[in-house]
Amino acid sequence: MFAQYHALKAASPDCLLFYRMGDFFELFFDDAKAASATLDIALTSRGDGIPMCGVPAHAAEAYLARLIKGGHRVAIADQTETPAEAKKRGGSKALVARAIVRIVTAGTLTEETLLDARAANWLVAVAEAGGAIGLAAADISTGRFEMAVASPATLSAELARLGAAETIVAEGADHGLEGAIVSLSGGFDSASGEKRLKALFGVATLDGWGQFSRAELAATGGLLAYLDRAGQGSLPFLQPPLRRETADHMMIDAATRESLEIVCAQNGARAGSLLDATDRTVTGAGARMLAADLGAPLTDRAAIGARLDLVSLFHDESGLREGLRTRLRAQPDIARALGRIVAGRGSPRDLGQLRDGLDQCYPIHASLDKLADRAALLGGLSPRLLGHGELVDRLSRALVPVPPVDAAQGGYIAEGYDAALDALRDAGGQGRKAIAALEASYREQTGIATLKIRHNGVLGYHVEVAANRADALMRPDSGFTHRQTLAGVVRFNAPELHEVAIRVGQAGAHALAAEAAHLEALTEEVLAAKAAIAATADALARLDVAAALAERAAEAGWCRPNLVEHSCLEIEGGRHPVVEQAVARTGGRFVANDCNLSDGDRLWLVTGPNMGGKSTFLRQNAAIAILAQAGSFVPASRATLGIVDRLFSRVGASDNLARGRSTFMVEMVETAAILAQATTRSLVILDEVGRGTSTYDGLAIAWAVVEAVHDRNRCRCLFATHYHELTRLAGRLDALSLHHVRAREWKGDLVLLHEVAPGAADRSYGLAVARLAGLPPLVLARAKDVLKRLEAGRQATGGIAAGLDDLPLFAAAIAAEPAPDPLRTALDSIDADALSPREALEALYRLKGIA
Ligand code: ADP
Repeated sequence: MFAQYHALKAASPDCLLFYRMGDFFELFFDDAKAASATLDIALTSRGDGIPMCGVPAHAAEAYLARLIKGGHRVAIADQTETPAEAKKRGGSKALVARAIVRIVTAGTLTEETLLDARAANWLVAVAEAGGAIGLAAADISTGRFEMAVASPATLSAELARLGAAETIVAEGADHGLEGAIVSLSGGFDSASGEKRLKALFGVATLDGWGQFSRAELAATGGLLAYLDRAGQGSLPFLQPPLRRETADHMMIDAATRESLEIVCAQNGARAGSLLDATDRTVTGAGARMLAADLGAPLTDRAAIGARLDLVSLFHDESGLREGLRTRLRAQPDIARALGRIVAGRGSPRDLGQLRDGLDQCYPIHASLDKLADRAALLGGLSPRLLGHGELVDRLSRALVPVPPVDAAQGGYIAEGYDAALDALRDAGGQGRKAIAALEASYREQTGIATLKIRHNGVLGYHVEVAANRADALMRPDSGFTHRQTLAGVVRFNAPELHEVAIRVGQAGAHALAAEAAHLEALTEEVLAAKAAIAATADALARLDVAAALAERAAEAGWCRPNLVEHSCLEIEGGRHPVVEQAVARTGGRFVANDCNLSDGDRLWLVTGPNMGGKSTFLRQNAAIAILAQAGSFVPASRATLGIVDRLFSRVGASDNLARGRSTFMVEMVETAAILAQATTRSLVILDEVGRGTSTYDGLAIAWAVVEAVHDRNRCRCLFATHYHELTRLAGRLDALSLHHVRAREWKGDLVLLHEVAPGAADRSYGLAVARLAGLPPLVLARAKDVLKRLEAGRQATGGIAAGLDDLPLFAAAIAAEPAPDPLRTALDSIDADALSPREALEALYRLKGIA
């Protein structure tokens, strides 16, 4: 047995091996130690000292879930023949054959119980070829499949957008990714990627889907090889690949996602995120689509407009919206049911879900179709809801109303669907009646009223009596044969019972086989329609998202944003949906604020006391940009904005202590990324940048960063700071203006008004905030004395920024910066090791062209 075990283990060295033994999956050696620690189950040891632990096969899923969460991968080695078959094959000592039937990893799950219904589950492969980085991503639970090209600078933003459950790379290439797994399956080259892709979709050319780079194909090769290995040869459901242009959506890097808490809050939970405060979807598929939309806001005005039109429709027609949402609530998750069926892990229940889900599309379509005049809006969506009539009809006739999850016991094919099956069931039923009759006659014959006929896996049908009544049946002439004595009961066999049992058993086995054949045929029919079913599921999700955003907008008076070509951000009465909810919970009222960035006034410097509402103001404007470009209404009374190509948000280091790296270093690295990447179409939110170091250093850095954003990047920017000295920049930078959050001291108490007003804050109110926070009076009094001294010193010397007024303008420094040499830039971008001879020659011609 251990020879077989070790052979299986050697084939999957990166996984824990679940080794099937009877009703259990057993783990041995180090696997057992790791699993017992993660699962908190007993580690035992065999007679020979080999450590082991086991989980019951019927409950394996729950244990799998915990192991996957714990960062493990699991190879499932199941028995591929019954003990009886093994005996027939190789004699009584023969070992049951086992094979790895599946490898379970975080990125290759399809089970309802292992997945979060409201979140996508991406497996991402990253590969490098021809000097570019390619990404291939698949969510096999729904069949979504994407490819994208990234650069070292945008790679982490792309990965952050997807929020991958599992990231894989080729051996020897980690691309600087934390947590990526080296794939043992190989396949990371463009030739094999192209070959696998063509084979998967049965096409001769990939041109129909766009032009793929070698890097993308290499990543696809790795991805498909990995999936192939995980499914042991049965590939899961993948829709034709969607080519993501990085320019298709707003680029948002990982640090920005974290600081704006777009799809999860900083503690990792969904609660407290922008997504959570926006999400009113009623289906899992809708929730997943909304998360994807917010994670990748669009940059194409027409596409955004189309989404907004749909939201407007449902916003204006509240009856239509309510009707649709009621119907959608009853929808099963057909995308995931389909994913399981295609992956070969489908159950009768999944077919039942498809039947119900597709059937309900007809009334949904009819209700939408009534709106003849608005039909154009739904043009692309509503036809996709139809076309499954035949399949629905077939499934309705074939399946019982609620088919079981487990096919093994049968009972999922409806009566009347197959006469032969009905006959077999009849025979089985009559057999069972005969057994009941036998029980009655045995009772009469023996005079034991408590005699029972029972059934179990070992003995089959047998007669059972209480131990103290067994004597009569033990007699040789009784007609009963003794089989088993237990503590309280004794079990017997009898010839007539044996005969009937065989009849029942045969009918049952034939009925099961007949049901299984139907299941296979129905599954085939579903597979033939998988692309159309996936399109229907997608259309339903889009409808759910639009109706949910309309619902959200109607709830709290959100408005339709107006997206324009020129660079501006004009928000009237803007609010932060998450903070607004939090404030409302404590009985407060959120103060709405305006923002107005334009070409001539594109950088707002916001000052004011701590807790005054600066961060909230900054983040609400970024959130409004995200929502607007995702195609949602926004929490404001009016909003006009120019498309944002890249969004950056940074929070000064001391707010981010949890990350455990040198926080000031992180802050500077992230700030450097903004200065390198922000364009005139970008929106940048900088909150207390420079705070993580000494006052002088911090002020100097903040000063230089503001100048650079203003003069070099020339992007829209909101900059919050407690360095009052920065307000001097207003006189030097013409597109910068000063704003502050208002506060007042009233009878010695600080009142924070949370109102953004023009001009700089008159003072910092630091001591008032300290008092609000409950600093002891003695300490406060002392601080007041110290402050007095400091301020006297500042009066005398002109303060720490005294020397800055005659600093030459930053613009002069930019002018003096030598222009980059195009030839050198081109030369630097060539990775000589990655070029084919032909590419090298092409590169040489290109360089000659520049020279
Ligand atoms: P700052 O960045 O100035 O320190 P925050 O933006 O973090 O201040 O806001 C501090 C708290 O003030 C928030 O948690 C919220 O409770 C409250 N607050 C902020 N803005 C508003 C607002 N516009 N209306 C009502 N309360 C607000």
